[in-house]
Amino acid sequence: MEDTRYYDNPLEDYSDFTSIPYINRDTKEINEYFKRALSESTKKLLYQLEEKKSHWIHDHDNSVYTGTAGIAYMFYHYGKCFNEPAYIRVAKLLGTSVSKFRGRREITFVTGIAGPLALHAVVSHSEGNEKESENMITRLKSLSSHVLDERSELSDELLYGRIGYLFALLFVNSHISPPPVEDDIIKQVVTITIKSGNIYAASTKYKTPLMYAWHDSEYLGAAHGLGGILYLLLQARAYLTQSQLENDIKPALEFLQRLRYPTGNFPSSNGSTTDKLVHWCHGAPGMTMLFCLAYEVFKDEQYLNTALQCGEVIWERGLLKKGYGICHGVAGNAYTFLCLFQHTKDVSHLYRACKFAEWCMDFGTHMTTNPDRQFSLFEGLAGTIYFLIDMQNPLSAKLPAYTV
Ligand SMILES: [Zn+2]
Repeated sequence: MEDTRYYDNPLEDYSDFTSIPYINRDTKEINEYFKRALSESTKKLLYQLEEKKSHWIHDHDNSVYTGTAGIAYMFYHYGKCFNEPAYIRVAKLLGTSVSKFRGRREITFVTGIAGPLALHAVVSHSEGNEKESENMITRLKSLSSHVLDERSELSDELLYGRIGYLFALLFVNSHISPPPVEDDIIKQVVTITIKSGNIYAASTKYKTPLMYAWHDSEYLGAAHGLGGILYLLLQARAYLTQSQLENDIKPALEFLQRLRYPTGNFPSSNGSTTDKLVHWCHGAPGMTMLFCLAYEVFKDEQYLNTALQCGEVIWERGLLKKGYGICHGVAGNAYTFLCLFQHTKDVSHLYRACKFAEWCMDFGTHMTTNPDRQFSLFEGLAGTIYFLIDMQNPLSAKLPAYTV
């Protein structure tokens, strides 16, 4: 029997008729009826999460990925989107998260101290507590000595490596004005990441100027691989030289694009032949954002076609049995459709996002296993809620800790 990680998609695809309960085709927006359903579900799930506070608050995990900081991030997002001050005030949760990290090696936004530091800086700034915000920024910037140390054996990928630190820098600069992190620090992080990829690529026979390995595997996906690294570098394009864009990023994108399976999905690592994973972390979903942005930057239609093909893969195989989370769940996969809608304004993608959202609104009904961190941002309920919040403002939706 075939080991499938997804449910065969039973949902009706877009047509003028099937879209009526979801979309107002004149305005290209979600209609009032479905917006209300989204809002009610979001509140219901938020209530469930708050009810279970004793289950996640004493957790020893303080990361954005699976810990308290990620849940606080979602509360902050809700508070900002709906102007609910009670939810914006999550500084205490974040302060606790910051204080729990010990090692200087945990430098990324998603799994390290950089996430709680960056979030605490942004939240403190929004509450007018500039002193606390500046204190957090100083600590965030001080991590750069480890990130820029070529002998540190630090990886480059998003979850544990340099690009995960880069996200934190870009995040605070986009949320605090004037941007508190100097260009020079960002340029140095970008340059050392490119250099690291150049060195590794030169040690292989591949026709790409950039390649990376993490734990001896040449991962390609958003969480650990080349795709995630290229996406963060492209988002930091203001800090890249024209030569880095043309001679490093573009040929690496083309190399990556050629590694696709015939289905349109991407291997989790270079050389993998099992076309199984359709997750944000590994596979097509994380690539959609990369190739949409590549299209925007380089104006090359082939990138958009690659992203559109990712959308087809995810519509077909994206209703995962693992649940409703961001990292390897339906909510994370649904960001694909929001991203495609943002770039094409084609309502068929918005419709598909609505259908995946509706699936998520039945939280807990379609899944075969419970994630370890069932309330967390990246594996559990907080991530599902984050996505349902974003569904209510689809043009501004951003997959957390990935799109700046
Ligand atoms: Zn995952």
